[in-house]
Formats: sequence, C-alpha cells, structure tokens
Amino acid sequence: MNSADIAIIGGGIAGLSAAIYTAEAGFSTVVFDQNKSQLRPIEHVQNYPGFPEAITGDELLSRMRKQAESFGAELKKEKVAAVKAGETNGSRFLLTVADAEGNERSFSANYVIAASNINKKPLEDLGIETEVSPAVPSGKISRIKGGSWSGETNVPGFYVAGLLSGVPTQSIIAAGQGTQTAMEIISKEKGKAHVWHDS
Ligand SMILES: Cc1cc2nc3c(=O)[nH]c(=O)nc-3n(C[C@H](O)[C@H](O)[C@H](O)COP(=O)(O)OP(=O)(O)OC[C@H]3O[C@@H](n4cnc5c(N)ncnc54)[C@H](O)[C@@H]3O)c2cc1C
Repeated sequence: MNSADIAIIGGGIAGLSAAIYTAEAGFSTVVFDQNKSQLRPIEHVQNYPGFPEAITGDELLSRMRKQAESFGAELKKEKVAAVKAGETNGSRFLLTVADAEGNERSFSANYVIAASNINKKPLEDLGIETEVSPAVPSGKISRIKGGSWSGETNVPGFYVAGLLSGVPTQSIIAAGQGTQTAMEIISKEKGKAHVWHDS
C-alpha cells in the first residue's frame, strides 16, 4: 500500500492508541515505526491501569500492536525520513519512508499524526514551531508551541500525539491524548462527535 487515509509516524504508546481508533472507525491507517518507544525497555510498568501485577513495556506495546492490527491498521517497520505538505493530487501529504537497508519509497496520506516523541523532525519539515516541553523535567522533550490536547497544528490535516502534544511523560496520558487526536480527526471527517461504545 502506498497511500492511506491516515499515516501515523511512530508506533509507541500514543501512535498505536490513535491507530486503534482510526482503524476501527473505518479509515485506512498505516503506522510507521522504528520500535524505539521509550517504554519498550522498561521491565516493570506498574502504573498502567489494568495490569495490577505490572507488565513489561515490550509486552504492553506488543498487545497494543495486535489490537491495532485486529481493527485493520497496517504496521510498517519503516522510518519516515521526510514529510511534505501539498505535494500530491488527492492527498495532502507526501511522506518519504525508508526500510532498514535505507531503500526509500513515497507514501501519500490525507492526514498525518506525528507521534514520534523525541523526534521533532516531522514538525520541523512543515515549519511547525516547537518548544521545550515544560511537562518533562529533563528538558529533552519538545512539544508543539503552546501545547495541544486536541493534537491540532496550524497545518490542516497534520496532528501531533503523545509527548509532542505537551502531555506529562506518563504512558496512560500519552495513550489518552493519542486517542483524543484520533477522535478529533474522526469527528471532523464524519461531521459529528465520534463515540465508540461496545455492547
Ligand atoms: C526510562 C523511562 C522509564 C519510563 N517509565 C515509565 C513508567 O513506568 N510508566 C509510564 O507511564 N511511563 C514511563 N515512561 C514514559 C513513557 O515511556 C512515555 O510517556 C511514552 O512512551 C510516550 O509515548 P509516545 O507515544 O509519545 O512516545 P514513544 O512511546 O516513545 O513512541 C515513539 C515512537 O516513535 C517512533 N519514531 C520516532 N521517529 C520516527 C520516524 N521518523 N519514523 C518512524 N518511527 C519513528 C519511535 O521508534 C517510537 O517507537 C518512561 C520513560 C523513560 C524514558
């Protein structure tokens, strides 16, 4: 597949949370990921609700990947090297993606969600301003200038999720904000507030 409704840069906590929702809502969703989530090496994640005995970060991410795929999201082990806006007919964004060997290809999408945590290059590619996130004491994490719980940026169709949105560095909050970003896109496309309630 060389195009999708929604391309997600980063299959960590926030990106996968967003993918579960956009895929379930019927939008073709592709997640590009280098498998370097900050949570992956953590052996005992004790504060993610639903796992009273703790869970490894690797296992939590693996379960989230399965969940996203079960709703139809495609997961690609590729790096997004560059993002351009307004480059293709019909889609608002053109991505350059590369596999582990460095082979590049183009990919187009109408929406892009940047959930790439410490990597702010996708925002810089589009001239979106960033600042050091005041929510993360290390000073090593950037967020979109001003922060955005909705994930919206000043580039139509381009959203941020997870730590790039300015949330505190806790996985459950990154997951919730990633979901919020997906809900914003789904609601915008459907023209009414989106709700997902299982029976
Ligand atoms: C040492 C440490 C311990 C932590 N312990 C806990 C804890 O116990 N509990 C807790 O709640 N939180 C913990 N956290 C915080 C938690 O890891 C983060 O809040 C969470 O991972 C943020 O989610 P995210 O989706 O924004 O980013 P991440 O989960 O880091 O995911 C970002 C993903 O984007 C991918 N990516 C980046 N650029 C590209 C690109 N160009 N192309 C393709 N993919 C790309 C990366 O490979 C990565 O998989 C810890 C963090 C650290 C550093």
